[in-house]
Amino acid sequence: MKTYITTPIYYVNGAPHIGHAHTSVMADILKRNRIAIGYEGKLTTGCDEHGQKNQEAAAESGLSVEEYLDGRSAEFRNVFDRLSVEYDYFVRTSCPEHKQRVAEIEQRMYDADLIVKKEYSGTYCTGCEQFKKPSDLNDDGRCPDHPTLVPEEITEENYFLKIEPFRDALLKHIADHPDFVQPEIYKTELLKMLSEPLEDLCISRPKRRVSLGVTMPFDDDYVTYVWFDALINYITNINWPEDEYKAWWAECEHLIGKDILKTHGVYWPIMLMAIDMAPPKRLSVHGHWVGAGGLKMSKTMGNVVDPIEVMDNLGSDALRYYLARNARADADSQISVELITQAYNSELGNKLGNLLSRAGKFAKSRFDGKVPERGSGAVDDADEQLRKQVMEACAPFAKKLDLAEIPYATQGLITVCDHMNNYFADQAPWDLIKNEDTKERCAAVIYVTLDCLRLVFEAFSQVLPTTSAQALGLLNCTVPTGGDEAWVPGLDKLQAGGDLAEISTLYPRAA
Ligand SMILES: [Zn+2]
Repeated sequence: MKTYITTPIYYVNGAPHIGHAHTSVMADILKRNRIAIGYEGKLTTGCDEHGQKNQEAAAESGLSVEEYLDGRSAEFRNVFDRLSVEYDYFVRTSCPEHKQRVAEIEQRMYDADLIVKKEYSGTYCTGCEQFKKPSDLNDDGRCPDHPTLVPEEITEENYFLKIEPFRDALLKHIADHPDFVQPEIYKTELLKMLSEPLEDLCISRPKRRVSLGVTMPFDDDYVTYVWFDALINYITNINWPEDEYKAWWAECEHLIGKDILKTHGVYWPIMLMAIDMAPPKRLSVHGHWVGAGGLKMSKTMGNVVDPIEVMDNLGSDALRYYLARNARADADSQISVELITQAYNSELGNKLGNLLSRAGKFAKSRFDGKVPERGSGAVDDADEQLRKQVMEACAPFAKKLDLAEIPYATQGLITVCDHMNNYFADQAPWDLIKNEDTKERCAAVIYVTLDCLRLVFEAFSQVLPTTSAQALGLLNCTVPTGGDEAWVPGLDKLQAGGDLAEISTLYPRAA
């Protein structure tokens, strides 16, 4: 079984922000999930290094284009590395192999008479780098995504891909593959986009206006429209057109924000159909982040969340946790440094880390530094109830997780930590240990608590790879490897009599 997960490739005209961190972390969670349950997985993320916006940013920086792109893409890579995003391939569209494949695809389309050159007059948003129809603009004649930019009226000759001939086939594909776009609300939106005839797609830019891009193979005066070139990364990453790409492509899942549904749901599948390829298996769409109180994040508002700053202060798992726990697929979600800190302290710290510390230290001091025997004579209904709840909370991570399920699965794990804490408080092992009659029961309570924690951290290793590995290390256990040895959640796998490592604080309290 294979799984090929992609993130969009990010424009490098600015520093990496929380939106980039989010999609790449979600992709990483899905990859870890699938590898844990026995899949062979591939994840790609990276940078889009072409287009007008990047060209302008490079010019403003005073660096050469190459220096600028090298610096920025290293910045993105560094953020994903620090976030423990285990990508298999880091895309840079400036790489010669990618550019050569893009040109090859254009030539095929050109030879099939699908590309025409014509003069076009239209309103152009430099923010989107796209021509806009009057119906795309708001009442002030501005692009709704870039209301501060005045759209330009442009008349120029360009190359266009005929996309209308493929509309019916795409509609049929969507009807035949009910899971093609998830969650459902985005399918509705996509079908609306496809309900009317599609205008030809402009796929070139004259070099006198934009030079940073892939030269059109049949006309030296033009570069390829940046989106057209960027989308193709999804197949050049897996070495299209060499045979090896096929098995991966058949299992391709694109993670995208809702703002790029049209490029991925309309243009990209049609580009693929134009070269006789199947659309991707799945588009998993997510909402956006807004500031606390639903306010838009902006420098002026001072509510921008910088992923690097959060990681410097709280560690990468704190950020991964917040994103995983709160990122709704079908709606926008709120984020702020305060909200992240609060979730880190009150949930990771108080509910998860604290229990490991208390139960671990208790076993260290009262059971000779070892995991006590559970002892079959000391089984209690409370034990069985808790163990059942923990198994249920871990179950979503033991099957193929969907993007939209990540927040619910993550919340389920932290909720079961409440039950574990209640169990620990109710059983009061510090009282049980005092009496010779209840000492065996005390051992059972500590064993059950530590074994449940082991299981919870095994599941959490898909979301919190760094601290879960630390926690499992303290318990003398390891993170499930997955792959050939698929992870199956199970009880009583903690070795009784095993040595406990020195119990350190997993989530030190943050101010
Ligand atoms: Zn725009």
